[in-house]
Amino acid sequence: MPKRQIVRIDEEKCTGCGLCVTPCAEGAIQIVDGKARVVREELCDGAGFCIGVCPVGALSIEEREAPAFSKEAVQEHLKNKEKTYLTQTCFLCGNTEDRIPLLPCRHRGESLWVCTRCLPPLIHG
Ligand code: SF4
Repeated sequence: MPKRQIVRIDEEKCTGCGLCVTPCAEGAIQIVDGKARVVREELCDGAGFCIGVCPVGALSIEEREAPAFSKEAVQEHLKNKEKTYLTQTCFLCGNTEDRIPLLPCRHRGESLWVCTRCLPPLIHG
């Protein structure tokens, strides 16, 4: 099996809040028995979009032996997956991601979503 980058979930830290499920476009992370789990390793591309949203720092990217990422497996998985997607909102203006692009950010110790309109004033004051 090849070595590659893949998400690591610290189950001791994970509270099962579910915030990391939506940012994973491949649907690789699900909450199982109250903890976040990578349901099939070939679904995780190791991009790490989930990492910034975890409020307790339970997610990281590590390099280890894992099945290769498979676009075909992702397409099949998403076709059969129950629709559990939760629309995210900007923590400042409340705009939803179907109206304006949102980015994950850290603000005052919290992992939040901010829209592209609110981000510049957040950075520059
Ligand atoms: S965001 Fe962090 S604490 Fe919440 S379910 Fe995912 S890994 Fe667990």
